[in-house]
Formats: sequence, structure tokens, C-alpha cells
Amino acid sequence: MPHKHAVAILFGIIIGVLAGAVIGWIGGTPVHAVAWIGTVFLNALQMLVIPLVLAAVISGVLSAGDIRHFGTVGGWTVAYYLVTTGIAVFIGLVMVNLVQPGVGVDMAGATEVPETIAGGEGAGATDFINAVLPPNLVAAAAETKLLPLIVFALAFGVALVAVGEPGRPVAQFFTGFNEAIMKLVIWLMYMAPLGILGLVAGRLGEAGGGDALIQQVSAVGWHVVTVVAGLALHFLVLFVILRLVTGRGLQYLVTMLRAVLTALATASSSGTLPLTMEGVRENRVGASARRIVLPLGATVNMDGTALYEACAVLFIAQAYGLDLTLAQQGIVFVTATLAAIGAAGIPEAGLVTMVIVLNAVGLPLEGIGLLLAVDWLLDRFRTATNVWGDAVGAAVVDNFLQRQGGKAPLG
Ligand code: ASP
Repeated sequence: MPHKHAVAILFGIIIGVLAGAVIGWIGGTPVHAVAWIGTVFLNALQMLVIPLVLAAVISGVLSAGDIRHFGTVGGWTVAYYLVTTGIAVFIGLVMVNLVQPGVGVDMAGATEVPETIAGGEGAGATDFINAVLPPNLVAAAAETKLLPLIVFALAFGVALVAVGEPGRPVAQFFTGFNEAIMKLVIWLMYMAPLGILGLVAGRLGEAGGGDALIQQVSAVGWHVVTVVAGLALHFLVLFVILRLVTGRGLQYLVTMLRAVLTALATASSSGTLPLTMEGVRENRVGASARRIVLPLGATVNMDGTALYEACAVLFIAQAYGLDLTLAQQGIVFVTATLAAIGAAGIPEAGLVTMVIVLNAVGLPLEGIGLLLAVDWLLDRFRTATNVWGDAVGAAVVDNFLQRQGGKAPLG
């Protein structure tokens, strides 16, 4: 059932984005003072993320019914993530080869790369294990690391199914818990228009307003154009996939716009997750698909980030006057996909994992310094694409399940 004030809230959010942009653009630095309104909204959203992921994933496994069905959800989900992320990187590579945004860019414009980014070098096997299976679940949750929480919730859900009758009250508990969290999400949505106004105006104010922004963007103007055009193209490709596979279309997109615009304002897929969940639910996507595909997607499925990393790395190569061979671009293809999977759903995480891609093709990390000034802006566009990719994924996986005659209750 669509939420009854959904349309009004969507209009409110659109006005919030536009008004925030105008206020921040004209007002400049002093407008940063309104950022706290956005912080209240964002904190409230983020507060819901941990309990939501836990309850949603556990009840997602439960609504899958039997374990085989749950395995099918997992299989389709991973296949969808890989195929669409691959398409995104491919689009990024084609765009950056066509436009050549880095050719002739002045390296003098590069700022120093902070240790938080350069430190992303050399992630080994132990880092990977700890990212997925850390010894302390609470500590991971405290740092909003969602992957361990998802792994735990998946295993716990399977265990509940295996336990059978004695586990029933716990299963009911988590199902009810999930419903209550979703109710909180709906209440919180009423705050979205104002919160988003605060976020957009505050961030533009922090950037120094419209004139300062134009200056920052024009230094790497073609890079910005290439990335935004690539993201727009991929957004469209995802829409076509949605249409072809599920027969859904504009109605699905319009319902998802609240989440997509919130992603634009927050630059965080994880923070946006509650709204993504609500939109997909209003679109009547089956419970097991949405409850598993979306939390996992918010942390590993990042089409926008993958596309961005491919563009950014080739931009840096071009700025240094280096021509990457086809084989090297193949390496970029693979590592950008991995780097996007590894990036957390938080602001500017893609910049940190980009170090992996640069290292793989032997490019200097200092190149990132060229892109720092505009990363906060491009982050918003890639996050919006990431969230749209997750939403399309839920519908696609749900469709595959239904075609197979799998049980997918609406929940
Ligand atoms: N901010 C992005 C997200 O949350 C990740 C990134 O590309 O930096 O999806």
C-alpha cells in the first residue's frame, strides 16, 4: 500500500532540494549555520539503520520460507550485483575514453591527499576477514559496519528456521520489531523536506556558495561532466533493465524518488536505507527479496561508485599524460568493481577504496588531490545512482523468484 502522504512528501523533498540549493548558492558560507537541521534528520535516519538491518534481514530469511528459496534469493542477488556493477564500470570507461577529461589538466591544482585516504593502501586477507566476520558484533555495529551485522542476521535467521517450533516466538518478535521500525521510518519521512533543505543548503554553504562552487568545478569541469553524464546514462540503463525484466516503470521510479533524492542530499546509501526500504515496500516488492537485497545492496552494490572510480582513475592517468593500455583498463575494470564492493555506504567512501585501483595500475596516489575539491558533489550523484541500483535490484530479484514460483509474501 502506498503511504497516504507519499506524494505530498515527495513534493516537499523536491522543494527542499531546490530551496536548499538556492539558499546555499546565494547565501554562501553563513548559510552553513543551518546545517544542524540536516544533522537532526540524518542522525535520526542513521539511528534506525542498525535495528532496521538486523530485524529486516532476519525477517527476510524467515519470509523466504524454506532455506532453498533463501539460497535462490542469494544467488540472483549476487548475479544482479555483479552484472549491473560491471555495466556501470564499462559505461564509465567508455565515457572517460570518449571525453578524455584529464588531458591537459594542470597538476598544480592538486591538493594534498589526507592520510585517511592514502592510508587505504595495502588491504590484506585479514582486513577482508575482519570486514565480514569481526570478533565483536557490537563494536562493528557501533562503527555502522553493516556487513558483519548482515552476516550475523542471515545466519541467525537460518538458525531460527532450523530450530522450528521453539524459535517461533523469536521469529514473531523480529517480524513485529521490523514493522515497528518501518512505522518509525514513515513518521520520520515527514521531517525529510526540512531536513534535506538543511543538508543541501548547509553543504553548499560550507563549500562557500555558488561562486566558490563554480570555481571548484571549473578546475576539473570535464571530469564532472563525464561522471554526471555517465551516471545519468547508467540510471537510464537500470530503468531499462527494470522495465524489461519486471515490466515495472515510471510508477516504480516515482515511488523511489524520495529515497533517491535523500541519497542526493545525504551522500550515504546506509543512511538512506530506511527510505529505500519504505519505497520498495510501497512498490509491493516481495518481502524476502527486499529485506535481503536492500541491506546487502546498501553496503556492497554500488554502481555509481564503480562508475566513478573507473572515470576518476583514467582521468588521473590522462592528467599525468599516461595512456593506459587495454589490458590495464581491464585491470581497472576488475579492481573498480572490487573497490566499489568494498566501499562503505557512507560519504566519500569511494575515494578511500580508489587507492586500490590506482595501486593496481601503478598510478600515483597524489592524483586524487586533483579530485578532492569536487568529490563531495560527485559523491551525491553516485550515491543516488547506488540507491536506485539497489531499488531496481530488489524488483528484479523478486521477479526472478516469482517466475520460479518461489514463495514471496508481500509482508
Ligand atoms: N557515498 C557513497 C554511498 O554511500 C559511497 C561512495 O561512493 O563514496 O553509497
